[in-house]
Amino acid sequence: MPKDEERDTRKAVFRGLRLECPSCGTGKILCGYLKVKEKCDCCGQELHHASVDDGPAYFTLMVVVAIIFPMFGVVYSLFEPRPLWVALSMMVLATVLALFILPRVKGLFIGLQWAKRLHGF
Ligand SMILES: [Zn+2]
Repeated sequence: MPKDEERDTRKAVFRGLRLECPSCGTGKILCGYLKVKEKCDCCGQELHHASVDDGPAYFTLMVVVAIIFPMFGVVYSLFEPRPLWVALSMMVLATVLALFILPRVKGLFIGLQWAKRLHGF
């Protein structure tokens, strides 16, 4: 790919959300839960440039709070369960949701950085 060719941001972001290489869409970008691979196994795209810092964590927190917080009121008003049950179940749901979303949001950030040629991509 030529150095100054424009990259498809939408495609790169969706590939990142699926934890796929933003360049080829075939290789995986993470090894383990959140560790970024040095380079793509399929196309050789260097991925070590990714520098997402705390962005995915903040974004994940925003999404989880936006989903869980209204559910407190809905569940409590519809079913009138014991407050402790609501608190415990929402904590478990928030944890599971955050663990599911966090790597995907990190992939989204990596895809965006790759598409915009940030941090040496
Ligand atoms: Zn690749």
